[in-house]
Amino acid sequence: MKLTIIGTGYVGLVTGTCFAEVGHQVICVDKDVAKVKLLQAGGMPIYEPGLEDLVKRNAAAGRLSFTSSTGEGVEKSDVIFIAVPTPPQPDGSVDLSFVESVSREIAQSMTGYKIVVDKSTVPVKTGDKVAETIKRYCKAKVEVDVVSNPEFLREGFAVEDFMKPDRVVIGVRSQRPVQAMKKIYEPFKAPVICTDINSAELIKHAANSFLALKISYINAISVVCEATGANVQELANGMGMYTRIGRRFLDAGLGFGGSCFPKDLSAFIKISEQVGYDFKLLKEVQRINADQMDRFVKKIIDTLWVLKDKTIGVLGLAFKQNTDDVRLSPAIDLCQRLLKEGARLRVHDPKAMPKARAILNDVEFVEDMDAVAEGCDALVIATEWPQFKKLDLERARRGLTHPIMFDGRNLFDRAEMEEMGFIYKSVGR
Ligand code: NAD
Repeated sequence: MKLTIIGTGYVGLVTGTCFAEVGHQVICVDKDVAKVKLLQAGGMPIYEPGLEDLVKRNAAAGRLSFTSSTGEGVEKSDVIFIAVPTPPQPDGSVDLSFVESVSREIAQSMTGYKIVVDKSTVPVKTGDKVAETIKRYCKAKVEVDVVSNPEFLREGFAVEDFMKPDRVVIGVRSQRPVQAMKKIYEPFKAPVICTDINSAELIKHAANSFLALKISYINAISVVCEATGANVQELANGMGMYTRIGRRFLDAGLGFGGSCFPKDLSAFIKISEQVGYDFKLLKEVQRINADQMDRFVKKIIDTLWVLKDKTIGVLGLAFKQNTDDVRLSPAIDLCQRLLKEGARLRVHDPKAMPKARAILNDVEFVEDMDAVAEGCDALVIATEWPQFKKLDLERARRGLTHPIMFDGRNLFDRAEMEEMGFIYKSVGR
């Protein structure tokens, strides 16, 4: 099928590329001209495992192209996906201005029937607004079906998640676009949940809030574990192997961050408030998440006493492993707090250093992870990159002025670290 994706970011680029990979003809649109030029020249604006090869292969095969013209994308395709940002506003509600302006742009280029699919994460009832807006701004009197198709991919595993989804959610107002949507997703061989638009939109916010809740639950338990001498990882295994619970999202640490969980959680709280429900449970999830970072910073201060003029090595800047995304990264938040306390920082991340440079000033970026600890008063693990488990611990211990490690991601075994001579502090163990 001929598909256009408007917004070529983490979601749009992965969506467009994976659709091309299964044989659809795809145009990816972005208003960021520099990004489009980079992609047209064979460059990559983001790091996502496996994505670069797929982009190159499908572009070379003529199935995937890039443009900054929404008009061209709308004209040449039957189905238009919206994958633009839906950032939070200061009060927690969602800024829908990107979705609104794309709806107008689509309308202005429409000359015949189109299916417009919202893939951005939006508050319930946004589909109705998109449909109204397109009808209002469309010059010709043409038919449109608006569909909600929320995306559940995880950054760092985005290609894998997109190619093998647990399920595909499709929200529609009528049966007319259903067949086309099923045809688009047929190659992925996943169960399709076909529902009304409002339910589809709510599924996304409810699902992300539930995952955030699971993380806050284990983080709250980590506090009880620390106070009782229990081990939160053993608890997580004991709970997680119970299939009714599941092990995923049960890793205690610095709390959740990134461009989705914090914003989707506050959006869901706000949406509930607007319909008259005070979602206190989710407010508590937010509070636990904020406390978790406070407690970790306190742990560092309690151990090092005064941070002014101390040098701290930080491993990890991305908000989680396998990505270069630093948006609302707990690791960046931690760095900023340590800087505020007067510490000097030596930092490393396998992929996120270019993006972190734009946010973190006055820190030393170190290319070699094994060299970070040199001359530091302590070393902090802030992101759960698997390669950090292979850190040259002996070299780190010798390089530190005092062998202190704060492991915010519970990557190492406490007994082994202590045996090596580290003063080792982790979370909930
Ligand atoms: P992003 O910021 O990485 O990409 C969005 C892109 O849209 C940018 O390249 C921007 O230039 C472009 N854009 C903005 N306005 C435009 C316009 N008028 N015309 C053309 N392009 C335009 O954002 P993202 O992380 O891909 O998120 C997009 C949506 O998907 C959000 O609603 C987000 O909540 C949701 N989502 C994100 C993830 C994730 O892991 N990142 C997962 C699921 C859902």
